[in-house]
Amino acid sequence: MLEVTNLTKSFGKLKVLDDVSVRMHAGQAISLIGPNGSGKTTFLKCLLGLVMPDGGAMTLQGKSIVGGWDYKRQLGYMPQIGRYPDHIRVGQLFEMIQEIRRGTFEKLDEELMHAFGVAEFAHKTMRTLSGGTRQKVSACLALLFDPAVLILDEPTAGLDPMASEILKEKILAEKAKGKLILVTSHIISDLEELTTDVMYIMEGKVRFYQPIDTLKSRTGEQKLNRALAKIMTTQSVTTKQ
Ligand code: ADP
Ligand code: MG
Repeated sequence: MLEVTNLTKSFGKLKVLDDVSVRMHAGQAISLIGPNGSGKTTFLKCLLGLVMPDGGAMTLQGKSIVGGWDYKRQLGYMPQIGRYPDHIRVGQLFEMIQEIRRGTFEKLDEELMHAFGVAEFAHKTMRTLSGGTRQKVSACLALLFDPAVLILDEPTAGLDPMASEILKEKILAEKAKGKLILVTSHIISDLEELTTDVMYIMEGKVRFYQPIDTLKSRTGEQKLNRALAKIMTTQSVTTKQ
């Protein structure tokens, strides 16, 4: 569904993505993990068209997306830190984005908005919202247009436990619909609950990319955090196509 071939990106002398080639399919939920500064966000931003790669190819459903616009209607993105105009009210923000997207989507998915009770804080300005409430707004926007691909950067960070559970349930429901989901998180237990595969990026290279079940059986571990610890110490570098 989404295919990346020989993707490279440098910032000045720093090679941030070094010949990355991966295939991602509908129905997969992929954990993107790796140390700080390893290139995870840059990888996601290349897919989103927010960073222009230096080289390589990216296709969605067989069509090139490099430099394209139209494909973006198929993506939902929840940034790690959502930035919004300070003085816009929550309700106005949702109206504005729907207006911008008019004619580019098939149906609205307001399920998460209802679950988070957005109507109760729709009159508030973005400036006055707590970090967690902003995250709720970002999550609702990422899911609103029923995208085929969900890209979630630290989706549960900053959410209270109840909100975190609501969001995870929604992500699981989207996964069950057969969407492609990419998630970064430092909370391994969340990734274990939500995802089917793990992609480990280090120094701009994909060190391994495997189903979680394979990782567990190869290492003989039941828990993802222990399996990851084991595989990282044995320096295994196989990748899945
Ligand atoms: P991660 O998300 O894995 O923590 P990033 O993809 O954000 O890593 O960053 C990878 C490296 O690229 C870091 O060293 C970071 O400082 C650098 N970097 C990211 N964006 C830019 C940019 N716009 N200009 C210069 N350097 C950048
Ligand atoms: Mg990052």
